[in-house]
Amino acid sequence: MTTAVAVATMKAAQVSAAGAGLRIVELEVPDPGPGQVRIKVKACGVCHSDAIIVEGRRPGISYPLVPGHEVAGVVDALGAGVTEWRKGQRVGVGWHGGHDGTCPECRRGDYRLCRNEKNPGLSYDGGYQEYMLAPVDALVSIPDSLSDVDAAPLLCAGSATYNALRRSGAMPGDLVAVQGIGGLGHFGIQFASKFGYKVAAVGRGSKIESLAMKLGADVYIDSKAKNAAEELQKSGGAKVIIATAPDSKAMTEMIGGLGSNGKLVLIGVSANPIEFAPTQLIRGGKAIEGWAGVTPADTDDALHFAELRGVRAMIETYPLEKAPEAYARMMSGDAEFRVVLTM
Ligand SMILES: [Zn+2]
Ligand SMILES: [Zn+2]
Repeated sequence: MTTAVAVATMKAAQVSAAGAGLRIVELEVPDPGPGQVRIKVKACGVCHSDAIIVEGRRPGISYPLVPGHEVAGVVDALGAGVTEWRKGQRVGVGWHGGHDGTCPECRRGDYRLCRNEKNPGLSYDGGYQEYMLAPVDALVSIPDSLSDVDAAPLLCAGSATYNALRRSGAMPGDLVAVQGIGGLGHFGIQFASKFGYKVAAVGRGSKIESLAMKLGADVYIDSKAKNAAEELQKSGGAKVIIATAPDSKAMTEMIGGLGSNGKLVLIGVSANPIEFAPTQLIRGGKAIEGWAGVTPADTDDALHFAELRGVRAMIETYPLEKAPEAYARMMSGDAEFRVVLTM
């Protein structure tokens, strides 16, 4: 005898194989396992890192897979043993989607660098769907006054720039340059300005100048028309330069803009080498640092700061059904500046 059970289904934007593109499919609404919650997804950002999954840029990805790691929604069901989160609570999930708690980094409490870090939309189905499962160690709480759409890009891009800047060592009044005015950079200018730095925005062309100034830049440097490093040196050199554009050549050019004890922090992901002479760093005790990610608690802080000081992304929204179009728009580089799916 078989018993017919009505299975609830939902829409998802899924990748069936590397390079196969996004397709809208019907999936079963999943049930949370121990230590997990089910999130009713309200909004999910489309981040450039989603290309890792859609284009299959990493070996060992198991398909089919639902991308998405800028997930904002509401806890809809609790798995066994979950006591610290409640149904109806607004939550988010960013790139840090869980850690093992046992590797050498985790044993030292540095679990943002977990060797076996899990990522939503890569290690398990992410937020391009109506319901998603997440382990509790990945959850971020979303402040009341922040909308789901506004919260989504803060969960990855916003949190990365906020935390890179607040850990950079720059003090109020220091000259801080934000290289690249895109998804990351337009957050970087806002946070840097609200932190009290003297903000130099470095972009290409004159068209984006007025926007950079509106976002909070004190100076705009058009790197097409001028040598950005020389311009920064005219003001004594930057204490910190946050490099957001995924362009190794542009990053290389910025090294010359550092002041004494200055630091170039790399956030934009590029596979091409950065070349410099050791003396460029040795004279003046300068450094280049890779930004390595955040914990969910770091992202809590980013969201609360954004709420407190009114930092918001500029956003283009698309309904989940148009996920392929939204992804193409993000990949085109023409979006201003973050693309967010709504459910
Ligand atoms: Zn991301
Ligand atoms: Zn670990």
